[in-house]
Amino acid sequence: MRSLPEILSRVEKGKAVVMTSQQVCELAAADDVSRLEEVDVVTTATRAVMSGTYAVLSFPVSSPHVFSRAGRIWINGVRAQVGPCPNENLGVVDAVVFGTAHSHSRRDYGGGHLFRNLAEREPVEVVVETDHGRRLETQLDLDQMPYARLCGTRQAFMNYSAFVNPTIEPICTIFHARGFDPCCSGLTFSGCGQINPLKNDPLLETIGVGTRVLYNGAEGFVTGTGTRSSAGHPNLTGFANLHQMKPDLMGGFVTSAGPECICSWAVPIPVTSRSILREIARLDRELDLPVMDVCRRQLLGHADYGQAWQNSDLEVAFDPQKCLGCSRCRAEPVCPMKAISFDGRVASRDEGRCFHCGLCATACVSGAFKCNLGSIRLGEREIPIVLRQSDRLRAQQMAEDLKERIEDGSFRMSAPVQRIS
Ligand code: SF4
Ligand code: SF4
Repeated sequence: MRSLPEILSRVEKGKAVVMTSQQVCELAAADDVSRLEEVDVVTTATRAVMSGTYAVLSFPVSSPHVFSRAGRIWINGVRAQVGPCPNENLGVVDAVVFGTAHSHSRRDYGGGHLFRNLAEREPVEVVVETDHGRRLETQLDLDQMPYARLCGTRQAFMNYSAFVNPTIEPICTIFHARGFDPCCSGLTFSGCGQINPLKNDPLLETIGVGTRVLYNGAEGFVTGTGTRSSAGHPNLTGFANLHQMKPDLMGGFVTSAGPECICSWAVPIPVTSRSILREIARLDRELDLPVMDVCRRQLLGHADYGQAWQNSDLEVAFDPQKCLGCSRCRAEPVCPMKAISFDGRVASRDEGRCFHCGLCATACVSGAFKCNLGSIRLGEREIPIVLRQSDRLRAQQMAEDLKERIEDGSFRMSAPVQRIS
């Protein structure tokens, strides 16, 4: 196999063979071993609800000497933690905002929505309560925040789980946007399967501290593994500059237990060893998808990502011609991305917001929103998939984008400075 410096040199000279993980898996499915062995770099990606996200922001809220220190901060009603630096008398605050924090003033709005609004350059309402109980209010946008960084405490899990509700009661949870109906009547799942970065390098042979990645479309870096990471189920921590992020790749996702946060990662994997070559060739059907009881968090059985992604449509199709203009649109209120609008006559969809979760296709009465979401076999039962909390379609597009950027030299791959143990 080629060493990492050899691969980086080939990339630099424009001679490297770069393929997306989807292309590689198609070669593996066709048993095209000789072409597989030519691959230097595989571009991988995942886009999903990632709760372990926070932003570190620093911005002015008044002239110097108006207040001594911040006591409490809200941005668009989302509570922020006051940062450790007191910025005494400077008129500046440091704030840490959790992606899963909920707004007290805006319905179905949380940290994930706020991050996207900031990336969209929308003005946000800032309220600061000072340590002396004074209230300051201001409005500002991202360009008025000199420092804005998005960070992850747990991102890009190698793969995740599927959930069902086996009880006889409905349940509200972050794993379903509408809430689970009882008796295993529907299944939700997360994970981008064969194209996930850590599926392609599960032993972290090439992804290390300092690996350059695309985090919500911005160049960022891996800093290590995150909370609940283990050898069998690794995840990553990292950061990137919020100023450079693409709004369409991030945002809030409203679940039946409140708003959550969406993030997207694209990671290049240099093929430096036989074990990586083996892993990149593993297909969805070879990847375990545990099916869990969402209430007790107990394992009920095993499926695989082939069942989740190979017999279904990645894209949710929308045909406004088929909309019946119902007296009450069933699809609009269930959309966790607020991507659907209904004006009383016809529904429309904001393509840049759609996550292709599929929930609208289960609610629309006419097939205006349409998607074969597939099903998962659990014992003797075939349980329909009703919601996907990962967007494989957009993840594939991100992997294609990263491939193009490596080939045209606008994304420079970096060697890690330290291996993650
Ligand atoms: S439920 Fe479907 S058909 Fe009815 S208004 Fe909504 S999109 Fe149109
Ligand atoms: S697939 Fe439907 S419900 Fe899901 S985000 Fe897109 S429009 Fe909304």
